Amino acid sequence: MAYDSDNIFAKILRGEIPSEKLYEDENTYVFMDIMPRANGHCLVIPKAPARNMLDATPDQLAACLATVQKMGHAVMKAFGADGVTVQQFNEAAGGQEVFHLHYHVLPRHEGKALRAPGQMADFDVLKSQADQIRAAL
Ligand code: AMP
Repeated sequence: MAYDSDNIFAKILRGEIPSEKLYEDENTYVFMDIMPRANGHCLVIPKAPARNMLDATPDQLAACLATVQKMGHAVMKAFGADGVTVQQFNEAAGGQEVFHLHYHVLPRHEGKALRAPGQMADFDVLKSQADQIRAAL
């Protein structure tokens, strides 16, 4: 399947729509998920186009995972989490909804389930959680 440069994360990378940015380096960009399934739920994406894991280059995957690890440490610290869940979906049948490679980084607390998907964040709360993560980086 081809990469569609009109996907929402490509628009975020081009600055055409806003995002609550947490971190960026030469190859990756990190921002808050607007429908967070846990406090501090963020997304790591490569800056160069890749539809998902299946067409990404090994270098893109390595760059993303290095940033995933960095964000894992940051969210653990920011929220006093007990663990981190990392999720990554490939194609619609694999659960993917936005077709630009992304990794979900979800801080977890013992015994606390993820929230149901599809619930829009309160943007003031999202911003204050983003401040906590930026401070922990
Ligand atoms: P999936 O492709 O299944 O991993 O789901 C896409 C994820 O992107 C969901 O968790 C959405 O909440 C999230 N999402 C969709 N649009 C935006 C956006 N504009 N900013 C931040 N997160 C988004």
